[in-house]
Amino acid sequence: MPEGPEIKRAADKLARILMGRKPRDIFFAFDHLKSYENDLRGDRIVSVRSRSKAMLIGFEQGLTIYSHNQLYGQWRTSKSGHLPDIGRQLRLALHTDKHSALLYSASDIEVLDKDGLQAHKYLCKLGIEVLSLETTPEDIKHQLSSDTFRRRRLAGLLLDQKCLAGLGNYLRSEILFVAGLRAEQRPMDLSEAQLDRLSHAALDITRRAYRTGGVTVEDVVVAKIKEGGRRRRWEYRHYVFGRDGSPCRRCGDTIVRSDAAGRRCYHCPTCQPA
Ligand SMILES: [Zn+2]
Repeated sequence: MPEGPEIKRAADKLARILMGRKPRDIFFAFDHLKSYENDLRGDRIVSVRSRSKAMLIGFEQGLTIYSHNQLYGQWRTSKSGHLPDIGRQLRLALHTDKHSALLYSASDIEVLDKDGLQAHKYLCKLGIEVLSLETTPEDIKHQLSSDTFRRRRLAGLLLDQKCLAGLGNYLRSEILFVAGLRAEQRPMDLSEAQLDRLSHAALDITRRAYRTGGVTVEDVVVAKIKEGGRRRRWEYRHYVFGRDGSPCRRCGDTIVRSDAAGRRCYHCPTCQPA
């Protein structure tokens, strides 16, 4: 499932072809949205942004297309009018004179006015947007230490979009590794120094994944792995996620897979002592 960094990169890509444009044609697959095809055709696109795992495409007259990819949704871009056959159902298309933005497989699509956007059930519950440029490690520490969240295990907390928006399953394992913490721990059990490490790791790892397209390992470590002849992406992408049975990149101990809040989680028993 794409996480915050992947959705934000998709938003950047869509923005490059849609911002300031007036779509000459719009297609909605779902009947209840068909009437918006006329409303939005020719209306200038004034914003394209992600919030957590949702995509928001804003129009000059005040309407916004909201979409959430869930597990299977996928955004593609192409030359205008060219619909690549990727074996998925097209659910939304925006065609400008030069390009097409195409959303496949997603079922969670809405058109919202300004009030609808404000009151949206998913958007209005989102916590701190980790990938926002304004977010600081202090904001994250404050959120984790708040009465709402401090008693909960990091296993569930780091996946809960109401706490930190934009994180997901691979980021959770990677953040815990860099912070030297375990999924069973709770913010209330942590020292100030541990909370600081966790807050910095949440921000740094998520921003790195956004910049690199999903690589969470530090650039210098990636360079060393590549120098050693391992150049395929899965060989250098993560510290622990998906690496059970392999040696830890820091200490050599064997990475272990476990279940945390119903999702697979990975850790190094030495770097992340119980
Ligand atoms: Zn280790």
